[in-house]
Amino acid sequence: MKPDSEEIRDLLHETRKQLEHLQILGVEGIPKTKFPEQAVMPPPIKSKPVGTRSVVAPTPPQSRPARIAPSNALFDDLGPKPEKLAPSTETFEQIHTEIGDCARCPLHRERTNVCHTEGNRQSRLMFVGEAPGADEDAQARPFVGRAGQLLTKIIEAIGYKREEVLIGNVNRCRPPGNRPPTPEEASTCKPYLLREISIVQPEVIVVLGNTAMKNLLDTREGITRLRGNFQNYKGIKVMPTFHPAYLLRDPSKKRETWEDLKKVRDYLDREK
Ligand code: URA
Repeated sequence: MKPDSEEIRDLLHETRKQLEHLQILGVEGIPKTKFPEQAVMPPPIKSKPVGTRSVVAPTPPQSRPARIAPSNALFDDLGPKPEKLAPSTETFEQIHTEIGDCARCPLHRERTNVCHTEGNRQSRLMFVGEAPGADEDAQARPFVGRAGQLLTKIIEAIGYKREEVLIGNVNRCRPPGNRPPTPEEASTCKPYLLREISIVQPEVIVVLGNTAMKNLLDTREGITRLRGNFQNYKGIKVMPTFHPAYLLRDPSKKRETWEDLKKVRDYLDREK
């Protein structure tokens, strides 16, 4: 029996829901090759020689087939499994003790203080920057200088207090002259940030500027291209946006940053 248009509409609706779900989980595509072999397809229709008439036996009236409950299992074997962040049993204290008086990269030579991630360790929302500046280096706290004050305003603009969210950097020591950390410096320090992310498992991470974005997402794309669109880090939504220090230099970019942050606020409100 031919499916009626209502059933086709329902099927399309369920399929779209499943695909959106997979997209949220980070699946970017479904390989073509697997699907046809594994889908339950009706037997092929045998073509008849042209000109023959077939006598079609009347089919008994059939009741509508029972609806198949939507099942995630239907799509389980499509594409690679999205990488998920494993739960962690570590604590921030253990990580900070391990970092200690770190001398693992050249940045230790000119720093005053190691500047650890701070804030609410149960937060649904995290902000990640590049590395401490002079004020942060002096106070051993991330984002406390002018850029940090602007970040605090941004956080408050979307309805949070600074102490309610988590704030960290890719590097914990100030690069001389506020230069960006080298790839080697970043890759030496980044694992500690990733371990903290595994502990907290925030729902959204806002990456501030190119260095933070490139390091968390392992991408070569630039911030101008990716900002404003949710990305994925092991099942966590990542919103790239401009760094507040850049906004201090070019305030016209605040409008786009506000658009990006509204998406974060709306997502967190929806998922409450
Ligand atoms: N810029 C950053 O990226 N991080 C800070 O903590 C301060 C300024």
